[in-house]
Amino acid sequence: MKLPWRRVRDWRCCACGKCCLAYTPKLTYYEYLKLPKRFVTEKRGRYYIRKLGRRCPFQIDNLCIIQSEKPLSCKLFPFSVHRRGDELALFEYDGEEHYVYVDPFCPNITLGHPSKAFVEKIIQALKMVTGKESDFSILTCHSLYFRNSSGGLIP
Ligand code: SF4
Ligand code: SF4
Repeated sequence: MKLPWRRVRDWRCCACGKCCLAYTPKLTYYEYLKLPKRFVTEKRGRYYIRKLGRRCPFQIDNLCIIQSEKPLSCKLFPFSVHRRGDELALFEYDGEEHYVYVDPFCPNITLGHPSKAFVEKIIQALKMVTGKESDFSILTCHSLYFRNSSGGLIP
């Protein structure tokens, strides 16, 4: 059962790759069109990555090789954002109400009072969901990035 965000102290991705093995990522129609046809599938009007057995075709060892084309559902994991939910999941951002949950399947979640860093991660997730931002650098493992000469992260 997913946890309302107020039950979570923090989360940090360590690139263990377990979520990529356990789930079949949903795609938006636009993502479906952009990815090579042999790696995607459509079922009853919904779009998914076509897994090869348990494995996503874009996972090499534990890592995702399509950082710049990574589907939104993958960028968001372990967060999910809903229109309705529990009071504990309510997160007001930019004048709108969102219900934010965290998937406890991820082994790198710590329970407790939400930290400031965790709240910033939720805000970045909401910016992506609402289309205000596509940068997901604080939602992913930084070992997947190289640093540029001024210390910024580049995928
Ligand atoms: S989100 Fe969690 S399960 Fe997925 S790769 Fe990162 S640490 Fe592992
Ligand atoms: S697209 Fe990347 S992040 Fe998403 S399941 Fe495949 S390897 Fe994992």
